[in-house]
Amino acid sequence: MDSDQWKLASLQTLEYLQRLGVKHLPKPSAKLSEILADWVDVSSKGSSGTSIASSRTQLQAPEPKQPTSQVPKQPAPAPAPVPVAAQVSTQVSAPAPVQVAAPSAMEPAARSVAKPSWPPVESPWMTPTRSAQDRSEALGQLKLQVEACRLCKDIVCHRRQTVFGVGPVTTRFVMIGDAPGPEEDRLGEPFVGSSGELFDKILRATGIPRDQVYILNTLKCRPPNNRVPSDMELDNCRPYMEAQLEILQPEYIICWGATAVRAVLQTTESIGRLRGRFHCYKKAKVLVTYHPTYLERAPEAKKLTWQDMQMLMRELGTLKA
Ligand code: SF4
Repeated sequence: MDSDQWKLASLQTLEYLQRLGVKHLPKPSAKLSEILADWVDVSSKGSSGTSIASSRTQLQAPEPKQPTSQVPKQPAPAPAPVPVAAQVSTQVSAPAPVQVAAPSAMEPAARSVAKPSWPPVESPWMTPTRSAQDRSEALGQLKLQVEACRLCKDIVCHRRQTVFGVGPVTTRFVMIGDAPGPEEDRLGEPFVGSSGELFDKILRATGIPRDQVYILNTLKCRPPNNRVPSDMELDNCRPYMEAQLEILQPEYIICWGATAVRAVLQTTESIGRLRGRFHCYKKAKVLVTYHPTYLERAPEAKKLTWQDMQMLMRELGTLKA
C-alpha cells in the first residue's frame, strides 16, 4: 500500500467514525477528497484498484450495518426491553426449575413427617413369646438399666427416681402414659394422684380391672416443671418402652395422650385425628385417647374418651352394638 492508499484509508476511517457519531474529528483536507474521488474512479474502472476496492470494502464493511451502527445512539430503547425481558425471564424461568426441583426433592421428607414411619400393617414381634418367669426376669434387668440411665442431662438432676412401670407380666393390655408428674416422681409408679383416680374410674367403667393391665410411661423420668419432653429425650427413652412392649407382647396398647402417641405411632398428628380407629404396633392393636390429666382440665372431652373405651369394649365383645 502506497502513501495515497494510506491516505484514502485514513479518510474512509474518518468518515466511518463520523457516521458512528464520534465528534471532534479532524476535517479531511480537500486533497484527500480528491484522492478519494480518483481512487473511486480507478476502482470503478477495474484496474489496479482491486486492492483499493478491497481495502475500501474492508473499511466500509460496517457500512451495511449503518442502521445498527446507530444502536449506540439508542442504547436505552434497544437494551431496555431486552434486559428487562431477560431479567424477567431469568427471574421467572431460572428459579422455576429450582422451585420445582426443591419440593420434589423434599417431598419424601414431607411425606415422612405427615405419615408415620411405622408399617401400617401388622409386623411380628422380634422375639418368641416368653414364659411369665422369663418376662419377669427380662423386665427386672431392664428396670435396672433404666434406674442407671443418665442420658437426658436436663432431667436426671431433677428426678427423684425413675418410673419404670407396674402390672402383671402376662396381660392383654398395656396402658402407656406420657411422662411422670410430681406424684409419680415421688411414688415411682405411673398413673397415680388425681389423674390416676380418674384413670381407675375409666378402667372400671370399661370393665378392665387395673390389676389386670400393665401400666408404663413413655418417659421414665419426670421433666423439670412438667414440661413436654423434647424429641431428643423421647428418642433417648423410646428403646426402653419398645423393650417393655417386646417383652410383654400385648394384644392391645392404649396410648393416653400425645406423648405416648408420638412414641408409639411415630407421628405428630393430633389425637383428634387419630382417635376413633385402631392403629398398629407390630401385632398389637393401638387405641389412642386423651390423657386423664387433660380430661381433668377439659371435662367436655370425657365423652370422647368414653367413646374410645366403648370402641375397645365392642372389640372385646363386652359391649353389644
Ligand atoms: S428419661 Fe429415659 S432416657 Fe432420659 S434419663 Fe430418664 S430413663 Fe434415661
